[in-house]
Amino acid sequence: RVVFLNGAFLPADEAKVSVMDRGFLFSDGVYEGVGILGGHLVDNEPHLERFERSMREIQITNPHSRAEWTRLEEELVRRNGVAEGFLYIQITRGVAERDFMFPKAVDPTVMMFTQAKSIANSPAAETGVAVITVEDQRWRRRDIKSVSLLAQVLAKQAAGDAGAQEAWMVEDGFVTEGGSSSAFIVTKAGNIVVRPLSNAILPGITRKSLLRLSKEAGITLEERLFTVQEAYDAAEAFLTSASNFVLPVVSIDGRPVGDGKPGPLTQRLRHLYLDMARVPAEA
Ligand code: PMP
Repeated sequence: RVVFLNGAFLPADEAKVSVMDRGFLFSDGVYEGVGILGGHLVDNEPHLERFERSMREIQITNPHSRAEWTRLEEELVRRNGVAEGFLYIQITRGVAERDFMFPKAVDPTVMMFTQAKSIANSPAAETGVAVITVEDQRWRRRDIKSVSLLAQVLAKQAAGDAGAQEAWMVEDGFVTEGGSSSAFIVTKAGNIVVRPLSNAILPGITRKSLLRLSKEAGITLEERLFTVQEAYDAAEAFLTSASNFVLPVVSIDGRPVGDGKPGPLTQRLRHLYLDMARVPAEA
């Protein structure tokens, strides 16, 4: 496997980062994750846009132009021969003597790797996934895609321990989002409900594309907060992320959602998304 580190494409086991890297010491960095389908990056432009924003928000100087990022990403996908999977990009503030304040004149650490993974035909898409709800213990800038993911690690481990695949995090009784996904429910009237964007959630790129596709399909959207109880009572539920696209949620805290099978609207949205994702973006 080849990874990208600070300007070079290297075998993964030769790519080394200092123990003094601020990503390692302070989680002082941001990242991005892009889906790969048919050998091309899905929704790459909005992912890079969000990445650029994350860097700006924490004042890391972006070392590459949009065109350079794209060329590096595409080269990594090509070198690894990934047809379907995931591309991970991370940037940290760099290597410096340990001190909280930003170091001066330090180059950021830039790293990318790919993971091969079946997304279009994943078994989870057929069966749906179970989620549990947990308290949202994160900081107040969840709109920044920070590498500080301890709350999500604990939330998703709790899900795994309970035999579930994802944790839906809850604040003041309302679902914020999944540990690594955006959370949706479908009302008995057939409307999609999703939490509006704010500092309380990551602006999901898959969420954004899905909202555009559902609007084009004439599906009514309610962009508002929803409670755990509403999720229990929903007709359907699903989650979205770059590495899963659209996945049906078939149980929440052990209670079946609807009839406990992937819902028809969810399946339709998944196929709409797949049709979109299969077409490479215009250069
Ligand atoms: N929320 C959180 C907390 C996430 O980590 C992710 C995955 N990056 C998402 C939502 C989904 O975002 P996207 O569709 O851009 O992958």
